[in-house]
Amino acid sequence: MSAKVIDGKEFAAGVRARVAEHVARLKEANGITPGLAVVLVGEDPASEVYVRSKGKSTTEAGMNSYEHKLDADTSEADLLALIDKLNNDPAVHGILVQLPLPGHLNSDLVINSIDPAKDVDGFHISNVGLLGTGQKSMVPCTPLGCLMMLRDHHGSLSGLDAVVVGRSNIVGKPMAQLLLGDSCTVTIAHSRTKDLAEVCRRADILVAAVGRPEMIPGDWVKPGATVIDVGINRIERDGKKKLVGDVEYESCAAVAGAITPVPGGVGPMTIACLLANTLTACCRANGLAEPEGLTA
Ligand code: NAP
Repeated sequence: MSAKVIDGKEFAAGVRARVAEHVARLKEANGITPGLAVVLVGEDPASEVYVRSKGKSTTEAGMNSYEHKLDADTSEADLLALIDKLNNDPAVHGILVQLPLPGHLNSDLVINSIDPAKDVDGFHISNVGLLGTGQKSMVPCTPLGCLMMLRDHHGSLSGLDAVVVGRSNIVGKPMAQLLLGDSCTVTIAHSRTKDLAEVCRRADILVAAVGRPEMIPGDWVKPGATVIDVGINRIERDGKKKLVGDVEYESCAAVAGAITPVPGGVGPMTIACLLANTLTACCRANGLAEPEGLTA
């Protein structure tokens, strides 16, 4: 195996420590504590785990965490009323509505009712537009985490060929926008892309955000390329449950220059970037200088 392993766990710990330091300074110098409100509707077990873990990380960083757990049959009107309350609460700088929402709720309507300045997931249509036009926005956490690791590894990304496999609104599209913003030549591939293997082989930076276990083998990877594996797939192998990414780790690591593992790569960066976004939102709300290197 030749690739450098990009340790997302270690990188995320560094981001969290920087957030915590900045939060401590904000409290001391300005008397302000950033606050993150997380709204969970229903009892999806995976979502409950995510929400618990977000709350714990938030308080560990010295910020206030506000959890709102609503019944699965909560009406849209009641959910929108809660978001309106949070939008107007000066102690709340970030609002996150845990997805997926129960089927009777319109996710787009709910997300777009969040104040864009508090939209720490970066999914509000205004933030999507701001990112697309290269303006200051709240940036979706997972692609932001990928960008931070890429910048750290490469320094400048300018002129590199980047291929993003996957065109979802939460990962693929914003990832492509961020890479374009850093002057990569970007290709977005998806399920209808012709000769995906050949497209991937052109990439200096290959980001896989597909949701298909180990779909990308080593012979799709350009020698020396950086492979960012966003995929989180639960599989069973030899009778054991296992987490794997969207790339075949062993064969890709044999040709890549650098690679993120699963688990321990992109995953830990997502929550770290949520904390970073909450801090950024708090600084912007209070007209204070933003922490450096914690947003796009
Ligand atoms: P998604 O919404 O299901 O999108 C998947 C994308 O992959 C779609 O654009 C789809 O193309 C494309 N695709 C599917 N099959 C393909 C194929 N055979 N060849 C090429 N492209 C194909 O998924 P997502 O929400 O972006 O998530 C992607 C993966 O990242 C999942 O494993 C998810 O669990 C993981 N994830 C991880 C984190 C993290 O924190 N690490 C965060 C979010 C997501 P079409 O558009 O043509 O259908």
